[in-house]
Amino acid sequence: MINFIKCLNFFFLYYCGDYLIHINSNYCKGCLLCIEYCPHKVYVKSEKLSKKGVFPPEVKYPEKCVKCHLCELMCPDFAIIVEDKDDK
Ligand code: SF4
Ligand code: SF4
Repeated sequence: MINFIKCLNFFFLYYCGDYLIHINSNYCKGCLLCIEYCPHKVYVKSEKLSKKGVFPPEVKYPEKCVKCHLCELMCPDFAIIVEDKDDK
């Protein structure tokens, strides 16, 4: 379950229990590789256009995330950071 979503202009923070997913919609070009490659289908395509005029990913099923970081690695524009709170 998503505990909290914070939108700071173009920056979305999904607080998902013991981890955070950061999506920078200013960097995102809407290629949707993150949705394609996430093995657990955590993301869906947003229904809202970003300021760049693309549909960025949205965290829809955070409980399915296994923190594999594949989305972060596959994103060509470094728009996603998956942060485990234990890393701090
Ligand atoms: S892979 Fe990166 S650039 Fe492509 S849609 Fe996902 S967040 Fe945006
Ligand atoms: S860390 Fe892995 S499971 Fe979690 S959203 Fe990214 S690709 Fe999906």
